[in-house]
Amino acid sequence: ILGGIAYVGYGIYQDRHPAPQIEPDPSKKTLVILGTGWGSVSLLKRLDTENYNVIVISPRNYFLFTPLLPSCTTGTIEHRSIMEPIRTILRSKRANVKYYEAEASSIDPERKVVKVFDASEVRGDTAETEVPYDMLVIGVGAENATFGIPGVREHSCFLKEIGDAQLIRKKIMDCVETAAFKDQKPEEIDRLLHMVVVGGGPTGVEFAGELQDFFEEDIKKLIPDISDRFRVTLIEALPNVLPSFSKQLIEYTESTFKEEKIDIKTKTMVKNVTDKSVEAEVTGPDGKKEKVVFPYGLLVWATGNAVRPVVKDLMARIPAQKDSRRGLAVNEYLVVQGARDIWAVGDCAVAGYAPTAQVASQEGNFLARLFNNMAKTEMLEENIRELSGSLNLKPGNAAEISRQIEEYERQLRRIKDIKPFHYSHQGSLAYIGSEKAVADVSWFNGNLATGGSLTFLFWRSAYLSMCFSTRNRLLVINDWLKSKLFGRDVSR
Ligand code: NAD
Repeated sequence: ILGGIAYVGYGIYQDRHPAPQIEPDPSKKTLVILGTGWGSVSLLKRLDTENYNVIVISPRNYFLFTPLLPSCTTGTIEHRSIMEPIRTILRSKRANVKYYEAEASSIDPERKVVKVFDASEVRGDTAETEVPYDMLVIGVGAENATFGIPGVREHSCFLKEIGDAQLIRKKIMDCVETAAFKDQKPEEIDRLLHMVVVGGGPTGVEFAGELQDFFEEDIKKLIPDISDRFRVTLIEALPNVLPSFSKQLIEYTESTFKEEKIDIKTKTMVKNVTDKSVEAEVTGPDGKKEKVVFPYGLLVWATGNAVRPVVKDLMARIPAQKDSRRGLAVNEYLVVQGARDIWAVGDCAVAGYAPTAQVASQEGNFLARLFNNMAKTEMLEENIRELSGSLNLKPGNAAEISRQIEEYERQLRRIKDIKPFHYSHQGSLAYIGSEKAVADVSWFNGNLATGGSLTFLFWRSAYLSMCFSTRNRLLVINDWLKSKLFGRDVSR
């Protein structure tokens, strides 16, 4: 045990006292990385930054462990526990890596520059500049899809960023406290305590589960007089929730939600949103369509991803991208099709896989290997060129030089053989409330579909192991213990 503690302590010491950084080298290529999400951070983690002058640009100066974001909406987990500052991540890099807190507004692939702007709160204005690149990695993710449905942007909460989770947490308690206010009308209490979630994908399902837990485990005990009025409704346009999971797990989720008293409305397509109600169209078993209205206190919109403007703008500049709809079409090496020296990873790239954290992080890892290899290849080729040039100048050393060239050539042959990106699916996990989870995982070359309390423990340990740092892991464990022992913090 003492050895273990000493090892962890040494690791923390090393992390907090890294070797001094080396200044940017004008002879090296400039690699610009846009974004600090799963794709970009996985790339950074494994990239040998000594080979390039690396510049990271993102409006978010931290990495966010998104799988646990739904837990932040109710205070099961505190938001800072799943954030890792990008500055801390970069500290462990030996070479100098620059970070600019800014948003890319456009990319000019002809001039090889990225236009960025920084909307500074302290300065109170927006500064704009251009950052030139030799190589560019786009990992800017996606934005929330609204399908142009009126009222969605104005009235609903999304669940993508930490600010979204904080807003939801505030709004839940606002609804609850307003419903508990003196002389509140019964129909207003019902509206305020009706929490509507649109989108039955993993985000909507996990959030609905967390919300019902919060209510059952905490709010009900603290404010018992309104407890029988609280309702969660999950609206999904398709015939079932969690379409990417197996049939057995869909049924398990739906029956668990029934027990938890979460109302699932399938075949229900939201068409309009106002400040107090959601208007939807339900398709009945006979195919007839009917209009329904759901008054709500809180509305959370989780209907998937849409392409960000900066990505749309780049796609419009590249003729080969004209048929791509869901993001930047990339080839098997994640190179943006029709562009030179631009790669894309994660939700902004279309590589034939679902837009998940798992895909993005594998893509980031792949690019790190690719770039490390490219740098090594260039270095070996340069060495071979130099040695070949000196062969005639130093005839006495010819045998030694030839042997050296052969050795470099052998290394080169080995390096160049990098295989195209291949995604290896490890499985899908989702929390469904009341300490139950569902898992579709690869198991000894087969598939295992399981749901329940044991799967919940598996879900927790899998997510814990995936947390970015030991610090994050300890904070998350602490939050789980804290909310179990003392209940969630309901202050606004
Ligand atoms: P999603 O795309 O998976 O699901 C959105 C759902 O919203 C769809 O089922 C769609 O039919 C429904 N929808 C769309 N418009 C609607 C409307 N007007 N009315 C009613 N329903 C409507 O979105 P997500 O859950 O945000 O997930 C995005 C991606 O991230 C997916 O690839 C998902 O697999 C991944 N993800 C995975 C996990 C996990 O594995 N635990 C968690 C979160 C996200």
